[in-house]
Amino acid sequence: CGIVGYVGPNVDEKALTVVMEGLARLEYRGYDSAGVALVTEDGIEAEKRAGKLENLRSALDAHPLDGSRTAIGHTRWATHGGPTDGNAHPHRGGQDDKLALIHNGIIENFHSLKKGLLAAGAQFQSETDTEVAAKLVGAEFDKTGDLTTAMLNVVQQLEGAFTLLAIHADQPGVVVGARRNSPLVVGLGDGENFLGSDVAAFIGYTRQALELGQDQIVTITPDGYSVMGFDGRPAEGTHYEVTWDAAA
Ligand code: GLU
Repeated sequence: CGIVGYVGPNVDEKALTVVMEGLARLEYRGYDSAGVALVTEDGIEAEKRAGKLENLRSALDAHPLDGSRTAIGHTRWATHGGPTDGNAHPHRGGQDDKLALIHNGIIENFHSLKKGLLAAGAQFQSETDTEVAAKLVGAEFDKTGDLTTAMLNVVQQLEGAFTLLAIHADQPGVVVGARRNSPLVVGLGDGENFLGSDVAAFIGYTRQALELGQDQIVTITPDGYSVMGFDGRPAEGTHYEVTWDAAA
């Protein structure tokens, strides 16, 4: 039920710290599982757990990850598949599982998409609707070599409500997000940028925000961002400054 994304400089643990803080700030929305994924020098590293954020924290304490410069984090409110470790996000896709993806919402047509993927030999680790999107975006990345293009090619096929964030081992300093009938906000920093399902996700770091419109994709890097519509044309979000005191 909450989503956070971060790209920034290669500072000790910053990406993981930002994402875990963001998830804590989004806890008020309710959730049953939580997970994170990072791009590290060894590729994607991820951890996910059913239950409270505390369970994820303990798992991370037991097996520390390299919380380098790119991270995504998720709290889940299960709609398809029970609240288990395996159904928690992120979900993986593409060759060698080099893609990690998180999702809030429901992909209404996941059943027919899953049938096609199964017929083509895909193997699923979960019962979620989300994993279908992970497999599709992963496969598109393998064809196109670009995460934004891969996301664009897939969102056109998805029905329902979704905020999606994805990272890929071969594009280390990039997080790509997409939204339809579900919120996604960009936080604009200095040499770092943020994504959140809600500004609370990054309010401790920046008050400069960009709200995305319906059916838009955003790509963030440490130094900038770009927005396009699901039709592939350049688009603009709505810039605003967060004035309320979310720290209270
Ligand atoms: N439908 C997805 C699932 O059940 C995402 C739920 C959510 O919004 O957290 O895994």
